[in-house]
Amino acid sequence: MTEVEKTIITLREELRQHNYSYYVLDEPSITDFEFDSKLKELQELELKHPEYFDENSPSQRVGGEITKNFKTVTHKNRMYSLDNSYSKEDILEWEARIQRILGDVDLEFTCELKYDGASINLTYENGAFVKAVTRGDGFMGDEVTANIKTIRSIPLVLRENELSSFDIRGEIVLPLEGFKKMNLDRMEAGEDPYRNPRNTASGSLKLQDSAEVANRPLDCLLYQVVSEKNPFKTHFETLMHATEIGFKVPDTIKLCKNVDEIIGFLEAWDLKRHELPYETDGVVIKVNSLNHQDELGYTAKSPRWALAYKFKSEQATTTLNEVTYQVGRTGAITPVANLEPVELAGTIVKRASLHNADQIEKLDLRLHDKVFVEKGGEIIPKIVGVDTAERAVDSEPIQYITHCPDCGTELLRKEGDAKHYCPNEFGCPTQITGRIQHFISRKAMNIDGLGAESVELLFKNGLIHNFADLYELTKEQLMPLERMAEKSASNMIIGIEASKSIPFEKVLFALGIRFVGETVAKKLARHYKNIDALMEANYEALISVDEIGERIAESIISFFSNEGNCILINRVKKYGLNLALDESLLAVQTEKLKGKVIVVSGVFHILSRNELKKSIEDNGGKVTGSISKKTSFIIAGDNMGPSKKEKAETLGVSIVTEQDYLNMID
Ligand code: AMP
Ligand code: ZN
Repeated sequence: MTEVEKTIITLREELRQHNYSYYVLDEPSITDFEFDSKLKELQELELKHPEYFDENSPSQRVGGEITKNFKTVTHKNRMYSLDNSYSKEDILEWEARIQRILGDVDLEFTCELKYDGASINLTYENGAFVKAVTRGDGFMGDEVTANIKTIRSIPLVLRENELSSFDIRGEIVLPLEGFKKMNLDRMEAGEDPYRNPRNTASGSLKLQDSAEVANRPLDCLLYQVVSEKNPFKTHFETLMHATEIGFKVPDTIKLCKNVDEIIGFLEAWDLKRHELPYETDGVVIKVNSLNHQDELGYTAKSPRWALAYKFKSEQATTTLNEVTYQVGRTGAITPVANLEPVELAGTIVKRASLHNADQIEKLDLRLHDKVFVEKGGEIIPKIVGVDTAERAVDSEPIQYITHCPDCGTELLRKEGDAKHYCPNEFGCPTQITGRIQHFISRKAMNIDGLGAESVELLFKNGLIHNFADLYELTKEQLMPLERMAEKSASNMIIGIEASKSIPFEKVLFALGIRFVGETVAKKLARHYKNIDALMEANYEALISVDEIGERIAESIISFFSNEGNCILINRVKKYGLNLALDESLLAVQTEKLKGKVIVVSGVFHILSRNELKKSIEDNGGKVTGSISKKTSFIIAGDNMGPSKKEKAETLGVSIVTEQDYLNMID
């Protein structure tokens, strides 16, 4: 073994160990900075030495592979549903039935929480991860390996173990905190928040770009090992072994000797579950002995040895006092129910979201109604029903507002849009400050020394009416303001001045065009290279850009067809904001490889691998990780992997050298 190979192996092992401590045990063993430096060291070595490539290296977790169509795979062992139960009687009945089938034996059970996400089957061979398949219809699912690999708590290489080749099943969940953060980011981009963590988790598995999955804080909680060669006698021991070899099995699992102990578990977790970092909707009770499980077998749709107990969803009854309406920075109106404060799942609830007018109509909601509120995955609770028996006879359906609560303008509602909008983009105070607050935010112009509250202060004092006005502020104007020290005034001016060097794509994002989030802004900036070209692009041109859909295109067109917006853009151009990509980047950009999908493999001499990839992108091509029918060609350096070569030959994809490539683009 060479020195380099040794270093690579050691680094991988160390990173694996740290990943395990951090994501599985939740006990970080080194700082993020140390972790990142080690990872970077590994990535550089792997880049220089592709001969030591390992698809299960910790460096592979960042994703990047694109899957257009997920392959359907038949499960080796069917993924069953679970029978449901709702009461202690149901559980007693189930236990009696089992005892009848098994005869006079001592029973033991495990109780686990029922994690609410998307189920997944992971396959390991010789201690390494090979494949992940969704449950699908239980017989067949979709292979989502590339996406699953990005989830840090799923081990790619196992520690020394007694199972070696086996399947393990678990639930992909989106922990609540991460979910909230994702939604804050979305709302910052003017997009509607995701409804709940479960759907977002299962949606994530089917994203085409695994790099996008890598950015989502997903987790995987394991609950069952499926193996013909399992040396353990019980479900509990098997799961404990799974923990030891690297899997995340929640330590809430408990062994129970009888139904009383099971009930004890249910009662304890009915309330405590709200303290967990992820959502659960019940408990799964399983017969612990694997022999007993075999003997009990399956019905047409579920195992006889397991039973799900569903928690009653946490509900409270209270009175609807008032419906108020909030205006977002894009003018979208969100109705909010103001409730008589009531306790729900350990917190006091005063407000519930109503989403839109349809929702109010569907609930047939009326003022002073007694309503049922429930806590779902949403950030604030929702109203799930009305107690019509308690309703006053003379009550009348709520009339949705027709005019903006902030500026009084008549609201609009576009075909097919669930929400009402205030069209008074340039005169509606909340929209104005909301847009300026977005403009200065961290991911946009990132203006130090200026926060959301200062924006309101400046607006109230008539110093700014739009984001362009920021660039004309003077220290003299700021000083007389309430609570404005000299130091904060200069910091604000310095921060605003510094934002002139923020790159074009961020400026584009900062403009706050609806549906143009960070990623879309980056795509548009790369494609159009400057604001003028983007402003001239028509609908057809826009939708022909990779990943720009109808909704985004329409929104861009309507943004630039507004004269007020164009005036603002001309003003900030004059102040020196970056409204074009950096010239040095621009010089090398061509469209020579437009529509080409290229795979890069091996070691190169003239350009580094990264330079090569960048060059492909600068010339309009797309780099992907694996060879498929869609691959236009492969650029092969020295030591191209034999399996890649074989695949290219079978698919008839041509292979070119580094020099061929350089001739092609020059
Ligand atoms: P159901 O979809 O209601 O039939 O319930 C079956 C699903 O519950 C399985 O496919 C799993 O995804 C999920 N589940 C969540 N937690 C567990 C657990 N601890 N044991 C077994 N299944 C679980
Ligand atoms: Zn308004």
